Amino acid sequence: MLPVVALAVTACSASPTSGTSAPPTGAARLVVRSTPTVVTAASAAKPLAGRVVVIDPGHNLGNSRHAAQIGRLVNAGGSRKPCNTTGTATASGYPEATFAWSVATYLKARLVAQGATVYLTRSSNSASAWGPCVDVRGRFGNTVHADAVVSVHADGTASRFHGFFAIRPARKQGWTDDIYTGSGRLALDVRAGLQAAGLPRANYNGGDGLDTRGDLGTLNWSNVPTVMVELGNMKNATDAAHMRSASWRDSVYAAGLARGLATFLRR
Ligand code: ZN
Repeated sequence: MLPVVALAVTACSASPTSGTSAPPTGAARLVVRSTPTVVTAASAAKPLAGRVVVIDPGHNLGNSRHAAQIGRLVNAGGSRKPCNTTGTATASGYPEATFAWSVATYLKARLVAQGATVYLTRSSNSASAWGPCVDVRGRFGNTVHADAVVSVHADGTASRFHGFFAIRPARKQGWTDDIYTGSGRLALDVRAGLQAAGLPRANYNGGDGLDTRGDLGTLNWSNVPTVMVELGNMKNATDAAHMRSASWRDSVYAAGLARGLATFLRR
């Protein structure tokens, strides 16, 4: 039998400005109260306790060595598309798959520190590993009953373009009509989080830091709110330099995503 206690926690009511670390343990004080309220320390101290997040690190390092497997056509949500693609890379050869994996790993740590349960759609970033296919990635959040899914990518377009944007699913009857509104909110929260972390909106795709796509299996298969992010343009020298920095991957990209997700999950 648990003692009847309440946990006074300042962090739960604090603004999620950093979204970056566990609440300060020094702020928690166990106090005995006369009212029979039982609050466990774990659930009270962690703002995302009970929340489930899926992170989908885009592509896989071994995709380029498995052309037949990733070229197989799958149902991407009303149309057939390749299982997966190789992703892009910086001019110096830093792969999108490795960038996405690193950001996902940092992001997972930040969300777990806030009490969330976090799943990744792939378990490694290996030159011998490929996939999973976009339909598998898209369904993953459904099977673990996620509250939110974020798919982490980087773009590879003309070098004059830079900055991030968040991709919402288009409304497709029978596919995304159930998650259209929630995913739109998630995209706005993630955009706000990334901006607060210091990332500029992309200077293309309309300049509002948002895009809408109806052809992405990763989004179309989801039955829970989902968003894909292109965190920068790997072909832009400044963006590429930032992406190659471990401190940027943790303290800017992952921190911004964590902040946006925390906002969404605590509404
Ligand atoms: Zn990608």
